[in-house]
Amino acid sequence: MFILLLGAPGSGKGTQGKILAERLSLPKITTGDLLRAAARDGTPLGREAKKFMDDGKLVPDSVILSMIKEELAKPEAQQGAVFDGFPRTAVQAELVDRTLGERTQRLNHILLLDVPEEELVRRMMARAAQEGRSDDTPEAIKTRLQVYQRDTAPLIAHYAERGIVHRVPGNGTVEQIATEIQRVIGR
Ligand code: AMP
Repeated sequence: MFILLLGAPGSGKGTQGKILAERLSLPKITTGDLLRAAARDGTPLGREAKKFMDDGKLVPDSVILSMIKEELAKPEAQQGAVFDGFPRTAVQAELVDRTLGERTQRLNHILLLDVPEEELVRRMMARAAQEGRSDDTPEAIKTRLQVYQRDTAPLIAHYAERGIVHRVPGNGTVEQIATEIQRVIGR
């Protein structure tokens, strides 16, 4: 089963993705974590990506597509996975749809974590104080929210046509939301 967590920055994709992946025994693929690790290690890809990440902009598809291909090709991702943070653009969605399609697989569920914007900003500012992420600054947060609306939110309509989008209200405790997610995917 392939599940995509979709939602604005700060909507809880990372937290819920981790819980869901553990409960379903699926690998979780998180492009943000992979990019942050690459940036920390100072690889050429990481150095290139960091310039965009710190500004709250998307890393260009030219850089990210090969990373997604590599992740989808891994043995542990052959039967299913939880995708956190990608696809984030129409071009990435096309790659994911095509790659799974060639394997006679498809995305089964899209979970849209729906959180009001004031709450998103509050959570990201709290996270900035705790984790010190270099893109949790007020300027980068503003850009990330705009980029989500412009580039990623249109994917909702793309997948809604297939009837696989479940809107999950992001208010409530972590456990309440996790339970609701399991309910909507029937697991
Ligand atoms: P996230 O941890 O998912 O909020 O991602 C943090 C940052 O990593 C984003 O603001 C982007 O700069 C970059 N990033 C993560 N995933 C992607 C992706 N699929 N496409 C482009 N940029 C990404």
